[in-house]
Amino acid sequence: MEKALLIREDGTRVDGRKPDELRPFRMEVGVLENADGSAYIEMGKTKIYAAVYGPKEAHPRHIAQPHRAILQCRYHMATFSVSERKAPGMTRREHELSKVIREALESVLFLEEYPRSMIEVFVEVIQADAGTRTAGLTAASLALADAGIPMADLVAGVAVGKVAGRLVLDLSEEEDKNCEADLPVGMAPSINSIVLLQLNGRLTREEFSEAMRMAKKGIEVLYEAQKKALQKRFAAYGEVTD
Ligand code: UDP
Repeated sequence: MEKALLIREDGTRVDGRKPDELRPFRMEVGVLENADGSAYIEMGKTKIYAAVYGPKEAHPRHIAQPHRAILQCRYHMATFSVSERKAPGMTRREHELSKVIREALESVLFLEEYPRSMIEVFVEVIQADAGTRTAGLTAASLALADAGIPMADLVAGVAVGKVAGRLVLDLSEEEDKNCEADLPVGMAPSINSIVLLQLNGRLTREEFSEAMRMAKKGIEVLYEAQKKALQKRFAAYGEVTD
């Protein structure tokens, strides 16, 4: 698709969204029977499961740290998650995204509370339509909360991109492929902390400030939905009556 067609004359996007509009999304907590904590997220056509094990004894034992838990994170895309079949193994990109998601989560976890332990986070992308690192982070944070692991705050993420010269929130893959810049952002809103920030492409200072403002607004919407998803999960146990 030609770049110009990605933004219509009236300023709306190819899927009809306004520039600062998120895709339709859905979150659910406690979706997997066999993990200690789990969550599912859909952002448009992007579909991701996150599963958490731990804190548990670090294994193999030589990786144990005497004063803290180690956090292991694996971001992985299913072979069938993308239009061109992906090889099942871990690519460089998946290693990179595992690292950025782990670092984002480390900034809200109290790992020093669990010496010689480990926490494992698995982010499995079932269907990808852009925004998987940020949606994966949002789901991973919910899965950690579901596992009962204390955090300074939940984290949520979304990308802002520059498409045909315009800043737009929560890129679809069609927009992602044709964008001039892509800025994935993860935040812990209540403690006002940026936990993930990457920039692919170029933005002016003004565009960067505006993109961060748009990301923050989007993240606040996701954050409220995260709290609702957790309340729904625990209401089922009769712990929350709301
Ligand atoms: N993608 C793909 N095949 C790949 C990697 C990525 O089709 O091997 C698509 C997928 O839809 C992904 C999008 O490209 O969501 C954007 O990828 P990017 O690396 O920008 O990360 P993301 O936006 O998912 O965080």
